This record gives sequence, C-alpha cells and structure tokens, in this order.
Amino acid sequence: SARDDGGTIHRVHVVVRLRPFSVRGETGAAAVVFEQAKSTITVTPKDEADRGNFRTFALDGILGPDAKQTDAFDSVRDTCLSVLDGVSACVMCYGQTGSGKTHTLSNLDGRDPSQNGVMPRAFQALFDRIDAGEEDARFEVSVQYVQIYMELIQDLLDPVQNVSLREDSSGRVFLTGTTTYAVKSWQECVEWFTAGTKNRTTAFTQMNAHSSRSHAAFILTVIKHANGVKTTSSLYMIDLAGSERTAKSEVVGVNFDEAVAINSSLTVLGRVIYTLANPKNKIRPPFRESKLTRMLTNVFTHGARTTLIVCCAMGFDDVAETNSSLEFAKQAMNV
Ligand code: ADP
Ligand code: MG
Repeated sequence: SARDDGGTIHRVHVVVRLRPFSVRGETGAAAVVFEQAKSTITVTPKDEADRGNFRTFALDGILGPDAKQTDAFDSVRDTCLSVLDGVSACVMCYGQTGSGKTHTLSNLDGRDPSQNGVMPRAFQALFDRIDAGEEDARFEVSVQYVQIYMELIQDLLDPVQNVSLREDSSGRVFLTGTTTYAVKSWQECVEWFTAGTKNRTTAFTQMNAHSSRSHAAFILTVIKHANGVKTTSSLYMIDLAGSERTAKSEVVGVNFDEAVAINSSLTVLGRVIYTLANPKNKIRPPFRESKLTRMLTNVFTHGARTTLIVCCAMGFDDVAETNSSLEFAKQAMNV
C-alpha cells in the first residue's frame, strides 16, 4: 500500500459531524437522519418527486447534532497523541462553509471551556502527558501556523516570511521559511494559535475577502529523545476551505480565481484520496498538483495517522452539498 511505512498502515479514520439543525435558522424537517449504532447516515433527496431515493453512507463514526465538544475530541484523541509515540498525525475538517469545521476544530471559548474545540483540548492532552513525565523521554515541542490561499503559502505567525515547500532525498516534504516557535505549555500553543488567527482575519479584512476561502494548517512538531534515539513527528491540524461549489455565474474577477484555486486544491485532495483508495489502478497520487496535497505528502505516504472529520448541515437546502461531502467521506473510507 502507498501508506505503508516500515510495516505500519494507518487507514484514514472518517468521522462525520452533523451540525445541530436550526443553528443557522433552518426550519421544518431535517433531510439527514443517522443511526449511531451502525454508523450510517441517510440523506433524503431535496426534490419531493424523488423522495424514495435515499442515499445511505457508512462511516467509522458519527457525531450527531447532540454530540458535545468532548465527544468530538474523543474521536481524535488517539490520533493527536500519537505524535508522542513518534508517529505523525493529521486531523482535517472538511465541509461547506457554515457546517461547523472551525467550531469543531479550533473553537476557543474563554468563558465556557466546555465549548472548546479539538485543538485546545489536544494541546492540553499532549502537555498533560509530557508534564506527567511517565516516560523516560525528553520532548521538545514547537509550532508553525500557515494558511494556503490561492496557491500561496502564508506564514500566519510572521506574515512577512516567504514560505515554500521543499523535498528531501527520501521524498519527505517540509515547509521552509516559516517561523517555528518552541512551546513549553498548552497555553503557549493557544497563544500562538490566537495570534495567527488574528493575523489571518486582519489580512482577509484588508483584502475584503473571507477566510473560508483559505486552508489553515496549525502544525505541532514533537522531537522526542528516548534511549539515545531522536524521533521527530508532526501533528497537522487543518481547517480546510469551504467545500461548496461556486457557480460561475455567482463570481467575477478575483473571486472567480479564488473559487477556481480553492476548488482545484480540494479537487486535487479528492483525487489523491481516490487514487489511494484505488491502488489497483496503479496511478501515482497527484500530490504535486496543489500546495495543500504537497504539504500533506508525508501524511499520506509515511504512515501518519489521519482522522478526517466531515462536517455537514442537516437541512433540505443543503442536501446537494451534504451529499457531495459524504461522497468525499465515502472515498476516504477506502484509504
Ligand atoms: P465553518 O467553519 O464550517 O464555516 P463554523 O464552525 O463557523 O462553520 O460554524 C457555523 C456556525 O454554526 C457558528 O456560529 C458555530 O458556532 C455554529 N455551530 C457549528 N457547529 C455547532 C455545534 N456542533 N453546536 C452548536 N453550534 C455550532
Ligand atoms: Mg470556518
């Protein structure tokens, strides 16, 4: 398998999170129903004449509309913590704008920490284990935070940096030109995340554009020294751009270029996943065709653990996007 690295294959773990119905003002019945025990989701067609043609998708796990933020974290905890065992990892949120990606991945609620998303919880869990000092190991932790917007990688922690991707002789791809900050506590991780997100928002406001058009990647790297051996592994936490298709008629000028760039990088991600899911076709995954997939080459080829959280809305108005997101989830189930 393309994902075999020294004997360990980690298939992509796929979880769907359904955003509570009516959070964004939907009324009437939900088009999406789920069966927790079987991990299946059924989508009713939008067109009434077509109502017999349900589509059912099977996933690794479902976070229903009543799922708590702790449930979301529980579904990715092992993936996140694997960096302490020398295994790289990736948690990625996919879905249309407004489906709950940012809420799930990186929500920070100063007043009500129960509303905190995966990232602050992951930082906390990682440092809890490091600080407990149970292992005979020493850890160095550092962070990077970039976004990919219109096929340009921008350093969110130091926006003047010129960032690019390089490949070493073993085919590992890494970021160069990014600032990397050493961190000693989960709070420091939160501080860098907050500072970077602020830069992201400011930059988009200045451009009169919206950050849902870019991919944000927070990368936490752990160097572990144990028994005279040094291992380096990274946890990629990625809030993908909105997956909605933008009709040509709705956009002009720069927005159209934007829509093409986003759709193409998500399309390439879809093609990478399709290729990995169908190894019999013997087609090389097109990692190099977008910055996002190139940055994630190691995740897919060097045995990293990956959890994909596909976020969906439940309303009839969103059925087309929900089906398309679940189609993406279905392909990833085969990787
Ligand atoms: P996205 O990042 O996919 O565009 P957001 O995470 O910003 O979507 O979510 C859109 C809105 O829905 C936000 O106001 C968010 O607080 C709310 N929301 C999303 N998921 C949930 C949830 N599980 N419970 C309550 N509110 C949610
Ligand atoms: Mg968002």
